[in-house]
This record gives sequence, C-alpha cells and structure tokens, in this order.
Amino acid sequence: MVEIKTDGELDAMREAGRVVANALAAVRKAAAVGVSLRELDQVARAVLDEAGAASPFLGYLPRFAPTPFPAVICTSVNDAIVHGIPTGYRLRDGDLVSIDCGATLDGWTGDAAVSFIVGMPRPADLALIDAATGALEAGIAAAVAGNRMGDVSSAIGAAAAAAGCGLPADFGGHGIGRRMHEDPHVPNRGRAGRGLVLRPGLALAIEPMLLSGGRDDYVTDPDGWTLRTADHSQAAHMEHTIAITPAGPRILTLP
Ligand code: MG
Ligand code: MG
Repeated sequence: MVEIKTDGELDAMREAGRVVANALAAVRKAAAVGVSLRELDQVARAVLDEAGAASPFLGYLPRFAPTPFPAVICTSVNDAIVHGIPTGYRLRDGDLVSIDCGATLDGWTGDAAVSFIVGMPRPADLALIDAATGALEAGIAAAVAGNRMGDVSSAIGAAAAAAGCGLPADFGGHGIGRRMHEDPHVPNRGRAGRGLVLRPGLALAIEPMLLSGGRDDYVTDPDGWTLRTADHSQAAHMEHTIAITPAGPRILTLP
C-alpha cells in the first residue's frame, strides 16, 4: 500500500533526514587512509545517539540476508556496490567508498547514501561518482506530481546509459516513512509514462547504483550481504529521501 504523508509528517521526516545527512557528513570527514570501516560506523552511531535517533539498519534482517545487519551504516568499497558490512578493513589511498545511512527520529525515517574518494582520486572514479550523482539528480528532477514512476526510472536509466555504466536491475529505491522500506518500489530502469502516478505526499528513497564496467550483473560475498560487481569494476551509490510536493521534489536528507 502506498502511503501519502501530510505536510506535518514530511516535516518530521525532514528532521530524521537531517540526522542522516549529519551522520554522512561526519563519516565523510572521518574517512581517511588508515581509518577502519568499523571506526566509521562508530562515528555514525555517535551522531545518531547524540540526536536521539534509532538506526533502521542495525539488526535489519531482510529475506535475502543470512544474519541481522550489524551496523548503522553500509560501507561499500571499490567494487562493492551496496550493503557492505563495516569490518576492520582500513581505508587505502584512492579507495572509492559508498556510505549508506538511515535514521529513525520520532517514528519517522530518512535514508541516504554518498560516494567519495579517500586520498588521491583516480579520474575514472571521480567520473563514476559524477555519473551516479547525475543519475540521482535526474531521478529527483523527474519526481514531480503528475509524472509516473517510470519517468523517474527511465531518467535514472538514461543517465547511467549515457555514462556507459551498468545498473543492477534487482535493486532500487523504495517508498519510505514510518518504515525504511515501504511501497512502492522505485526501479532504476523503466519506461517513461508507465507505472504509478506520483502524488503530493509520496515519500521516496531514490538510489541509483552505477557500475563502471558497463555490465549489470553482481555477485554476493560469502557474508550474504555485500554485493560486488561481477567484473570487479568500481561501483558508486548515491541516495536521497525526497517527497513529491506541489512545489516540486523536496529533498529530505540535506544537512
Ligand atoms: Mg540507503
Ligand atoms: Mg534506500
């Protein structure tokens, strides 16, 4: 069931989204050569704790997972696409890091992700992050009342194709509100003019994940969580929680 939020509920989601943005900013600031992924998780936990927010990631157990998720952020490095578990791995110069974070505040949830380089970037990795950012922006720009879900999906898919990047078809965005994952699914590929009509009050997490090798397939690590590009090319993941409003898309996960 697709839930339509009131303005007051979207304002509450904005506060949860602000906590997410602050956690991502703190993690990005702390991410440096030699810092471990587990230490980055501690940084995010401190921001959530300080804000009185709970983590919708911690203990999350979706159908595909063998174990509850053990952290408040996903840390996906280089060829890892999404769902990477923070381990003792220490960041190396040039690592491409994708961080995904959620927060629940006063019963409402925000979800966002950023990708960035630690240390000295490779030009191709910067281009990949730019492409993922562009795909997210294109998806958000299409998230206007009266458009259909397929308009969002096709905008994301077109941006990825223009950059020569792959997109794993099994994963995409989602409705969000009291729970992190609500209806509807937000595919990263689709046909313009098809699907659900977007109405004011609909809150969506839009999250393209671009694979630099141009292929769409992925493999799952033995941990049952981490998805990697099948060809071990680099991956970047960008996400915002947004709301459809009469004035256009409202991004709820800005600082
Ligand atoms: Mg997320
Ligand atoms: Mg999400």
